[in-house]
Amino acid sequence: MLTGVPGEVIPDGAVLVRDGLIEDVGPAADVIGRAAAGTPRVSFPEARILPGLIDVHVHLVFDGGEDPVATLAATGDPALVLDMAARARRLLDVGVTTVRDLGDRNGLAARLRDAVAAGTVPGPRILTAGAPITVTGGHCSFLGGQADGVEQVRALVRRQAEDGVDVIKVMVTGGHLTPEGPSSWELQYGTEEVAAAVEEARRFGLRVAAHVHTREGVEVAVAAGAHTLEHCTFLTEAGPPAGPDADEKLIRTIAEKGVYVCPTFHGGMGALETRFGADVLRPWLEIRRDQHEQGVRLIAGTDAGVTGVGVEQYAEGLRWLGRAGLPADAVIAMATSVAADALDLGGRTGRLRPGLDADLIVVDGDPRADLSVLRHPRLVVARGRFHVPRAGESLPWE
Ligand SMILES: [Zn+2]
Repeated sequence: MLTGVPGEVIPDGAVLVRDGLIEDVGPAADVIGRAAAGTPRVSFPEARILPGLIDVHVHLVFDGGEDPVATLAATGDPALVLDMAARARRLLDVGVTTVRDLGDRNGLAARLRDAVAAGTVPGPRILTAGAPITVTGGHCSFLGGQADGVEQVRALVRRQAEDGVDVIKVMVTGGHLTPEGPSSWELQYGTEEVAAAVEEARRFGLRVAAHVHTREGVEVAVAAGAHTLEHCTFLTEAGPPAGPDADEKLIRTIAEKGVYVCPTFHGGMGALETRFGADVLRPWLEIRRDQHEQGVRLIAGTDAGVTGVGVEQYAEGLRWLGRAGLPADAVIAMATSVAADALDLGGRTGRLRPGLDADLIVVDGDPRADLSVLRHPRLVVARGRFHVPRAGESLPWE
């Protein structure tokens, strides 16, 4: 058993699940000894148990196809919410028991969140940002979250909080998904607007996720007090990041302030490597290793839904973090305990601990030796609900 905390391993471990919660964790002999007589058991002698995986950056409204924006535009809400439910189910199949949706339309992710929580639809726990906050005509403005200037940003945060979002997403720079909007290297908001969003969000107990690409965007988001930096690529107008040395001081500030960084590594990176060669990806991998080595708290998220990134490729993103030179133990924590802390869910999920929600997966083989064993879990338990992903397989209950 890997508890989600690096180095914390329980040989021959067991978890007792009751009423959706983890009631007991420890060596199997002890847990069985403490459990009521006749408690049903299922055992996997050669497998590993670990906490359910967390994808801190998804877009359930996007299909991960060639043109997700056009597909979305052509899909009405009744059909879209069914597509989103299907994607939620596929996330559960690959062991993802919590997602943070960072860009949604018409509050559909919140409806799905509530249906999953009620147990009517299978899926991971969903945190939703609703529509990302962006400037008029800006990155992802078609999702409906336009706000210009401090007052409009404040008002939109308030409205979203009243609508019941779980997190606020601000598009600090442009992005490639919106070709007619500002480019990824262009700033959309200054520190005043982002700080206003952070301040307003805090009044409702919400955290702020900042979409940022450039060094300038990162400076704005960090100065404004954003909690997580999405992408954080240090992209330049010329393309690749300038290299770790150019941004060393800022990276140290990110680490010191405890700001989380989601590199959005994903399964589509294999196709990029095939198409452009390994050299092209190297600078993007190097900055992550550097950020990790400087003490930045990286978290696992895939941007699932955007072009060429399907929700079922979650584990591929983790393998790319491994390819960047990060130790597997650290990568597993980025996908479990550290991700939960980043989402303010450390008291609910991300670790195997008594009292937390029963979110866990069972995989064949040791992910510390090979992260790809996380691709196809044998069993997924999400808030105590048992889910068997493999067709035709049933659990060997004793
Ligand atoms: Zn995104």
